[in-house]
Amino acid sequence: MAIALRRTSVPVNVGGVIIGGGAPVVVQSMTNTDTADVAATVEQVAALHAAGSEIVRITVNDRDAAAAVPEIVRGLRRRGVEVPLVGDFHYNGHTLLRDFPETARLLAKYRINPGNVGFGKKHDENFKAIIELAIQYEKPVRIGVNWGSLDQSMLARMMDENARREAPLSAREVMLEAMCASALESAELAESIGLPHDRIIISTKISEVQDLVEVYRAIAARCDYPLHVGLTEAGMGAKGIVASAIGIGLLLQDGIGDTIRVSLTPTPGGDRTEEVRVAQTILQTMGIRSFTPLVTACPGCGRTTSTLFQEMAQDIQTYLREQMPIWKTRYPGVEALKVAVMGCIVNGPGESKHADLGISLPGTGEDPKAPVFVDGVKTTTLEGEQIVPAFIEILNRYVER
Ligand code: SF4
Repeated sequence: MAIALRRTSVPVNVGGVIIGGGAPVVVQSMTNTDTADVAATVEQVAALHAAGSEIVRITVNDRDAAAAVPEIVRGLRRRGVEVPLVGDFHYNGHTLLRDFPETARLLAKYRINPGNVGFGKKHDENFKAIIELAIQYEKPVRIGVNWGSLDQSMLARMMDENARREAPLSAREVMLEAMCASALESAELAESIGLPHDRIIISTKISEVQDLVEVYRAIAARCDYPLHVGLTEAGMGAKGIVASAIGIGLLLQDGIGDTIRVSLTPTPGGDRTEEVRVAQTILQTMGIRSFTPLVTACPGCGRTTSTLFQEMAQDIQTYLREQMPIWKTRYPGVEALKVAVMGCIVNGPGESKHADLGISLPGTGEDPKAPVFVDGVKTTTLEGEQIVPAFIEILNRYVER
């Protein structure tokens, strides 16, 4: 099934990065450092940006964090890192943005969770205060609804209304409807205060794949705000990656999603940039955007008694990633390059012919011979211990050409 046409949305400018309006789907991420720790936060923002994050969000949870933002921006600039920083606000955003004008000015976007801006009359007052600051500083906002912090008064009201229906919805259906209503009513309120239509982005994040797909399909049909898509609390390891890929992938296949974030739980001290690589890989494997040449490799089987092809596939992928900072400026379009590294001749030649460059390593034997294909044509056969460096040489020549 072909990918659906992108849903129509208004473009929103986030510090020079356009979200929506048909612009390429933006990859973004979020730090997990203490924002008040300027050095650690600068280091992680720079690493996320270097990995490919086009927007980075930081939590601005207290006065120390708010005071640190200008220092973080200056630290990034000293390192030559220019990436829009988004402030994530909960509970006290109205006071932090008011009391730290430099922070309000330097952030590229404010994320507001309508479930966490206060209750009753306070909710409306605090929400209005943040929106007025966004208007004053000409910033876009993301109205980021999260099912774990859904506006409880709204949910209670909708549960009551549902109970009076002749055919009540299930509790799940009411919850999903409440998420949509919270996002859309908040956006409407923001516009009534004076925030322009093209400065609003919406997200309705949830941690179950089927719920995610349903709630985003519903909200996508009811507005033209750009949508920030991500599975919240996706989890650890394979579960987080698989669930995010399926949830985000299903929506992208429907043409839904203008920016994505993959929310992985890293191992303690683990590499935060993995979420960026996963987000890029989702977009690239779906044929939506290209970031780094990807290696197609077979899984290996009983025919591969040598580990040469696994090592080579790994080495080539690492080599390609390492070259990209130089290659992407020197050789435009190189990110779409396809390289196949196959374990034997059963599927090797066929897969290699479909790639720009391919090699079929011999699964066994002490005298390895590996046919190489360039643009679908067999050009040479590499032999012996020089197979890997010789193939990298062919790869370099191909990219230069
Ligand atoms: Fe096994 Fe060869 Fe298929 Fe790889 S290409 S999985 S080695 S049969």
